[in-house]
Amino acid sequence: MKRVITADVTIIGGGIAGLWLFRRLNNMGYKALLLENETLGGGQTVKSQGIIHGGIKYALSGNLTKASECIAGMPARWLSSMQGEGELDLTSVKVLSDHQFMWTPGGFGSRMAAFFGSKALRGRVDPVSKSELPEAFNTSAFKGKLYKLNESVVDIESVVRALIDGLEDRLIKVDWENDTTLKLNDDKSIVGIEIARGDDHCLIEARNFVFTAGEGTGDLLDRWGLESPKMQLRPLHMVMVEHDYPHPVYAHCVSTDIVPRLTLTSHPSENGRWVWYMGADLAESGVKRDPKDLIEKAKKELKKLMPWVDLGGARWGTLRVNRAEPKQNKLLRPDAAYCKVIKNGMVTWPTKLALAPNLSDEVIKNLEEQGIKPEGNEGFVAENLPRPEVTRPFWEGHLE
Ligand code: FAD
Repeated sequence: MKRVITADVTIIGGGIAGLWLFRRLNNMGYKALLLENETLGGGQTVKSQGIIHGGIKYALSGNLTKASECIAGMPARWLSSMQGEGELDLTSVKVLSDHQFMWTPGGFGSRMAAFFGSKALRGRVDPVSKSELPEAFNTSAFKGKLYKLNESVVDIESVVRALIDGLEDRLIKVDWENDTTLKLNDDKSIVGIEIARGDDHCLIEARNFVFTAGEGTGDLLDRWGLESPKMQLRPLHMVMVEHDYPHPVYAHCVSTDIVPRLTLTSHPSENGRWVWYMGADLAESGVKRDPKDLIEKAKKELKKLMPWVDLGGARWGTLRVNRAEPKQNKLLRPDAAYCKVIKNGMVTWPTKLALAPNLSDEVIKNLEEQGIKPEGNEGFVAENLPRPEVTRPFWEGHLE
């Protein structure tokens, strides 16, 4: 059977970029579909630390540019949605922490105090007094200083579920190796995406196709036959440890370097323990280490930085993961969402979880410029096609 489904916008890739856009376009009345070839949220999104950054990290490099002002607006966008007052309904999202900390180990105190007190950061970073220390740091063994940032940390699985709730019939599981093909015109504009399963040949047509496939966008650009834009990958080697220490930590441990020494977030595991997930310099410099060696380094770092924490009986693991971004000179970190219009498509990378709202703004602006307006989507479904599942937490199967 040959059939055609006609959408206004077809989104390819169900990480945070695609899912935020999918929900927003559908709410606006666009007929929007989303195609995913693995699990929803299962790429970089679930492997992220879930921090809704407001760009304070850029201040560490003395680099509060216009682009970092873009990220400064993101925590408020997420927060208003999580409070039921924003562009999306994210009231069901689990907020793991509504703030996090910058943490300076003993010895850096006065230099960092001057920095955090600087004009650029006034009102965005508050010193924490001894009497207000969170439980994980409330010990005489802690010799450093803490500064509180109003940046929340969210549970990713709950974000994914909130973004697809009620829209499941507009999600499609695809398999580019076996049954899915990008159909092109001679001028490289996109005809549609064909899904051929047995006798069922379904052509997904749309007025615009938005590529939000993270690392997978590299392969899709090859299928599209485009030389540019090019993608860059920044590899990370993250460490995780599941243990009995009862207090969660959400903090960047900073020294005098641009990259924090360690960023630590805490995620509840199914057996009631915390999984501490560790990134920043530990993960960047850890790329060259094998897992055993990196775990040893992480153990030493934690012993140095939090000697009061007993991690006996812990289960450890590491996770190699790439950040996928538009290519930049010298592997610099892009600090605003990227969106490029090509024919009747758009190639995008959010470059940060936090920047998903910014990416959706860019896409919507481009759709409007092309005269693609919402005309209602009631009853719109992609019938008789398989649906993708939602990701499970990132540490499953990685701890021993
Ligand atoms: P992804 O999440 O990778 O999603 C792409 C999706 O597309 C996947 O589901 C994939 O299966 C699918 N896909 C791939 N190919 C195809 C195809 N051919 N067809 C259909 N679907 C396809 N940012 C923050 O703001 N805060 C943080 O705390 C943070 N921590 C991070 C920690 C780590 C270790 C990493 C790696 C990144 C972190 N980031 C963070 C960055 C953030 O995670 C990413 O920028 C963001 O998740 C990218 O989202 P995405 O939707 O573009 O990509």
